Amino acid sequence: MFHGSAEGLILKIVTYGEADLLVWVLTPEFGPLRVLARKGLRSVKRFGGRIFLFNRLEFDYSRRRDDEIAFIESARLVEIFPGVFTDEVRFGRAALFAEVLLAAWGEGDPAPEACGFYLEFLRKLERGVQSADRFVLDAFRLLEILGHRPVLDRCASCEKPLDGSKMYSVNEGGAVCENCAKDEKIKMTGRGGTLPFAVTAAVRKTVEKSYNTDPGHLDRLKFSAKARVEAFDLWIEHIKALLGRTPKCIRYLSEFERTSKRK
Ligand SMILES: [Zn+2]
Repeated sequence: MFHGSAEGLILKIVTYGEADLLVWVLTPEFGPLRVLARKGLRSVKRFGGRIFLFNRLEFDYSRRRDDEIAFIESARLVEIFPGVFTDEVRFGRAALFAEVLLAAWGEGDPAPEACGFYLEFLRKLERGVQSADRFVLDAFRLLEILGHRPVLDRCASCEKPLDGSKMYSVNEGGAVCENCAKDEKIKMTGRGGTLPFAVTAAVRKTVEKSYNTDPGHLDRLKFSAKARVEAFDLWIEHIKALLGRTPKCIRYLSEFERTSKRK
């Protein structure tokens, strides 16, 4: 029997059998760790309310063999984010990033940067201080943490200068010159997948600038309302290419972002 302890943020919980809970915790050491809380639904003494979405926990676990699922033995609360549940937009943003992290990060791959980023993200949502612009820039930071920072200062395919090209290819991972866009369109037509499309210079420049800006100063970067929608659509295309599907939380979030009066 192996015993260990870890600290992390709960990304997903599903009930398992009668009263057990299957829990995905994002940990710095092991990335998303899947653990089973036996009688997690009922055992007040052992878990009493601590197994809850987005909670930050310290927990002890055990497992019989390396290839078997770990069981949570006990858990202590480190931080909670009740404010995230008071507002559909906050909840939708937190759930979307959790879904993307779970789908894109391999279990067992250390994730200290992703953990630190997601913790800061939850804290901002909790305090209600995240603007719509900052959310989109954070989404692009998440893309960078996942190892897919878009190439924006040269052609992502041939590396030559862009020379005014507005074309963008999620398959190449960034802006592309007119020639590479044409070649890709010919190659990809009829095969499915996203063809190169035009992206306005304002979106490209603001996103590029955000990667060269200290995170503490990112709130100073602004999109126009139109550019923000375009930038978020661009991000969604990247995530679709990365996951091979549209995240479930996108539709949920878009609904509330559209009807929300807040900036
Ligand atoms: Zn090119």
